[in-house]
Amino acid sequence: MTSVPVPEGHVPDRIPLARIVGPRSVAVVGASEDVGKFGGRVIHYLIKHGFPGRLVPINPNRPAIRGLPAFPSLAALPEPVDVAILAVPVAHLEAQITEAAAAGVGACIVITAKLAESGPEGAALQERVVRIARGAGMRLVGPNCLGIFNPVDRAMLSSSLALEGEGFAPGGIGVISQSGALMGTLVSLAHDHGARFSRCISVGNQADLELCDFLDYLIADEATRVIALYIEGLRSPERFRAQLRQARAAGKPVLIVKAGRSEAGVQAARSHTASLAGSYEAFAAVCRDVGAVLLDDWVPMVLAADALDRLPRLKAPGRGVAVLASSGGSTAILVDQLPDAGLRLATLSEATKAVLAEWLPPTHLHLPVDTGNFREGTSAAGINAVVRAFAADPDIGSIVVPMTTSPRMAANAALMPPLAREGDIPLLYVMGAGAVGDEARAAMRAADFPYYDRASDALAVLRALEAEAEGRARAGVPPPERPAGAGPAIPEGLPDEGMLTEAEAKRLLAAYGIPTTRERLATDAEAAVRAAEAIGYPVVLKGVSRAVVHKSDLGLVRLGLADAAAVRAAFAEVAAALDRAAPGGMEGCLVQEMAQGGAAELILGARHDPDFGPMVLVGLGGVLVELLRDVQIAPAPVSLADAEAMLRRLRLWPVLTGVRGRPPADVAAAAEALVRLSWLAADLGPRLAELDVNPLILRGAGQGSIAVDARAVLRK
Ligand code: ADP
Ligand code: MG
Repeated sequence: MTSVPVPEGHVPDRIPLARIVGPRSVAVVGASEDVGKFGGRVIHYLIKHGFPGRLVPINPNRPAIRGLPAFPSLAALPEPVDVAILAVPVAHLEAQITEAAAAGVGACIVITAKLAESGPEGAALQERVVRIARGAGMRLVGPNCLGIFNPVDRAMLSSSLALEGEGFAPGGIGVISQSGALMGTLVSLAHDHGARFSRCISVGNQADLELCDFLDYLIADEATRVIALYIEGLRSPERFRAQLRQARAAGKPVLIVKAGRSEAGVQAARSHTASLAGSYEAFAAVCRDVGAVLLDDWVPMVLAADALDRLPRLKAPGRGVAVLASSGGSTAILVDQLPDAGLRLATLSEATKAVLAEWLPPTHLHLPVDTGNFREGTSAAGINAVVRAFAADPDIGSIVVPMTTSPRMAANAALMPPLAREGDIPLLYVMGAGAVGDEARAAMRAADFPYYDRASDALAVLRALEAEAEGRARAGVPPPERPAGAGPAIPEGLPDEGMLTEAEAKRLLAAYGIPTTRERLATDAEAAVRAAEAIGYPVVLKGVSRAVVHKSDLGLVRLGLADAAAVRAAFAEVAAALDRAAPGGMEGCLVQEMAQGGAAELILGARHDPDFGPMVLVGLGGVLVELLRDVQIAPAPVSLADAEAMLRRLRLWPVLTGVRGRPPADVAAAAEALVRLSWLAADLGPRLAELDVNPLILRGAGQGSIAVDARAVLRK
């Protein structure tokens, strides 16, 4: 959604944000008896959900609406209202806003659409409208939004059909959404599952009040315990990052779904890093860094928000999952899916096994536990004993209970909420059946306890709970420290901007203490031989041109040259190849030491993200790096512990620890190089557009690393 930058006037706000979300008085412009109209639905929902404040319909043609005295216009109101809700045709919007501003309205919720999102004319109108409002100290929500649901104050300021639902008891989930329709959908889905919300805000075009304004409010809001965000684009990324930290410090998990994942990496980029660390990946890295939970889809987001609101939280990340089921089939599939979700089955303690032995035959004292195997048949006493033992087991962090159709399913479901509360452990109950399972679902709703219709939902929620616990564990970690010899002085004599040669890029790396190959530039064959003799055979010879991106593709890299004759021959061949590839662009040949004893090749990268600043990347190097996308990204600088954790998160991590007879690689040296590169990226900031070290050759454990190829693009 687009937004209009409007210079902040110094007209003070008429009312604070909390009174916009929870107004004492509301005018509905275009109020009607007809719920087929926007204004009709708005007033209907306000009444239906028991708005306790002053409610004034505005309608020039009727003396009363829904039994409430109506006024012909905002100007006719005897005293100003906190909030006016406008769902007027776009042609009337400017006049209505002008009238509202003159009538002393605190804020307008503008449901009207076809503003900035519809083109330049709409954008100009939107800008005028914001100027009128801000000039009077009146704030705007929207336009093109669906308003606000505030169950805490029973202020349902919206035309969304989600409000057809009954009840809406207050809860702890706060929502901010850049899509009003999506907000209505997720609230209605979660509401049916028994989830409860504090305040849900649809921000629309964010012409005036934006997502971050409401995020500040939710972080401070006493009723809100968990925050769920649907984001399309951020207006103030750095403010947002700081807010995620504040939310974490306030003990409020933030869950996020952000559109645009598939756009990541589509822009043709000159470096691997730029194509692998696109804006979505940078956003994801920042979320991880500050302990926010990024999800792929809104269903798991709202279910996870509910779990964080109503279930006990995970005590610590990394513990195992216990599974208690009523059928072997459903558990087998669930257990198969655990590793895909980054989860593992717990290892039972002896104490837990001893309890299981009271209920199960000796062949079944392991996970998953199937109540169908209970010696005396499924019983409440057995379920109670087993779940209590799970809750006390130090390796068990959570319990999943996938239930299939069975005669006592509702009664057994009802056992779970008290057990989870008593054991202070997240217990995820899954009822996979159709309508016959409704009795069990109703039992869970009656007990004010979450449940899931699919095991895959429960696993997605569990993964989010893990990420939240990881974020919590991260919060106390001190900021990274600069290692000795890592800059901050930048070498003299580099070009101010544009592509650096390999040798120039390596001088940057060396200034930060990253080991690089000994090398010399030679402009003729004899100079190349002299350089090789000074460096020591075997050597590597590479053609140098700023115009070339991938040297080996063009035959410009010659490895393992063992003597003067080999160097001379290679020089001639490389010069000829370079002449074909980049006529006239040859700067010479780089003669460099041949790195020996490599156990693995990594790619290290850095880039400056326009929203979130310097980022570093690491992955297994080689030609498949873009295809595999097995890379980890983090905001720079990173600590040694962060760098090691990034390496460990790589799918191909086992390659570095030594598989199938390969020696283990020096991962400590890799982490060290990544830390140093992260300081380079942090110090250069926006000047370093992008940088690749590909590869960093890792020798065996304890033998160090060396950057054999590098490329960088600088900006002024
Ligand atoms: P490209 O521009 O094609 O990426 P590189 O300089 O990375 O060219 O060389 C291609 C490959 O050759 C590297 O991935 C690495 O395996 C090997 N290589 C390059 N330089 C050296 C060196 N100095 N020592 C050992 N191997 C090297
Ligand atoms: Mg390379």
